[in-house]
Amino acid sequence: MKVVQFEPFIDHIEYEAIKDCFDKKWITEGPKTLEFKNALCEMIGAKYGVFAPNGTLALYLGLRALGIGPGDEVIVPDFTFIASANAVEMTGATPVFVDINLDDLQINIEGCHNALTPRTKAIMPVHLYGMVTNMPQLLSFAKNNNLLVIEDAAQALGINWEGKACGNFGDIGCFSFFADKTLTTGEGGFVVTNNKEIYENLCYLRNQGRMNRGTFEHPHIGYNFRMTDIQSAIGLAQLSKFDTIVSLKNTIFHSYNEQLNNLDIVEEITVVRPRKEINPFIPFRVIALTKEPSAPLMNYMKQKEIETRTFFYPLHKQPCFKNKFSGENLINSVYAYNHGICLPSYPRLGETEITYVCDTIKDYYKGKRI
Ligand SMILES: *Cc1c(COP(=O)(O)O)cnc(C)c1O
Repeated sequence: MKVVQFEPFIDHIEYEAIKDCFDKKWITEGPKTLEFKNALCEMIGAKYGVFAPNGTLALYLGLRALGIGPGDEVIVPDFTFIASANAVEMTGATPVFVDINLDDLQINIEGCHNALTPRTKAIMPVHLYGMVTNMPQLLSFAKNNNLLVIEDAAQALGINWEGKACGNFGDIGCFSFFADKTLTTGEGGFVVTNNKEIYENLCYLRNQGRMNRGTFEHPHIGYNFRMTDIQSAIGLAQLSKFDTIVSLKNTIFHSYNEQLNNLDIVEEITVVRPRKEINPFIPFRVIALTKEPSAPLMNYMKQKEIETRTFFYPLHKQPCFKNKFSGENLINSVYAYNHGICLPSYPRLGETEITYVCDTIKDYYKGKRI
């Protein structure tokens, strides 16, 4: 049996939606994009939303709309996909890395105090793998220290913390619709805010410095961050299946959890579980931490044709940042990288495959004990 890490949940519904765009000749930002935008804003509970071509550019657009630029520092968790930090770099500002908690892999808010300097302008919590940063606590830290908050909710569309949507806590929230995200448009990004002034900044920046298309007078400098109706049609089709996606992902999570919560191996590998404030929970991946470093287990699984993924490599150790960060003692992100494993988890993954993956993990630990 071969088990891949991920495949997007697309079928004839998305295909028909694209065909409709072609029939109507709607191939750039138009009616479908407006409809998709309104649906997303309603789902998130945000007043304003704009699209970006992808999640990285959504973060860049959001940071720029907050006025972040050269000379500023932005606090970013050391453990995240590198796009979070690269978006900060792209504005000319400097990301400053803070360690994470090991229980939920989220930024350690107490640790953020040590990262503060007179240049710190903003903080970027990143909701990873379906887990959520404790936003009430983070917002109070930000308020006390006069920081703007930009949420990287690329992996957290549809997830709530105590009834409020991820991405709707901060000054700005950013989403990605990349192929492996909960909802995909192939490529795509979305920025939300509840602040009119920030929304206007977003509009100017993404639309060549003007508020509306059709005029060639440009009060500000801006760029082109359009999405296409073809992508939005895919997005609307995905939205119509969203409840199914959430339910399938939760079924997969519970199945892994049950099978791996087996007395023989419970000491060796632990599925990372969401805190009780998270509801609905939508696992981006099913992830686990192993007692011994996870690399040998992943190697074994690869031989059995199971595709796993490592966790994110700590940002302060990234070769591309080598000359910029002295490598402070960020212990938990390093531990998470060395002990983490992403198990295959995509909506269409079947019970037979999950059992095969779990049995393979059990076999590995049984083999080690003999
Ligand atoms: C996917 C992702 C991004 C970047 O989104 P793209 O659409 O790939 O540019 C940023 N942050 C996190 C946490 C992500 O998972």
